[in-house]
Amino acid sequence: MTQMPPLNDLYREIVMDHYRTPRNRGELPTPPARRADGHNPLCGDEISVFVLVEGDLITDVKLTGHGCSISQASSSMMSAAIKGRRVEEARELVARFKDLMTAESSEPSEDALRELGEIAALSGVSKFPVRIKCATLAWNTLTQALDDAETSEPQQG
Ligand code: ZN
Repeated sequence: MTQMPPLNDLYREIVMDHYRTPRNRGELPTPPARRADGHNPLCGDEISVFVLVEGDLITDVKLTGHGCSISQASSSMMSAAIKGRRVEEARELVARFKDLMTAESSEPSEDALRELGEIAALSGVSKFPVRIKCATLAWNTLTQALDDAETSEPQQG
């Protein structure tokens, strides 16, 4: 197990909770769900994201995979945050999260806090460039799954 970066206590607690009790573990049948696989060779993190998109809504999401605490916690938070959201909103959240990871300051802005909720607990990771790929893996893989869903499935409405 790789070591946790030194996050503040509250943030560490949130991250470890998602790591110990990951949300939305499992798989969805494909089709109708879309699957994308992500790999972070720097750390050995692997993740598969399954998304079920109906109309413009993400009605279900499941994850499998393994890796360090940051990658696993981040994927769990991602799944909890996007389930039930519109595809467009999920993409905005991905952009927000990536902003957070590349921000100069490790203190999230008020706006970011409001939009990201507990996901902001990962903000401290941005101070550790080598771990950023651990945190963004799930989000990049989600984007891949959403892209696939949009190009290969004619949407109604
Ligand atoms: Zn990792």
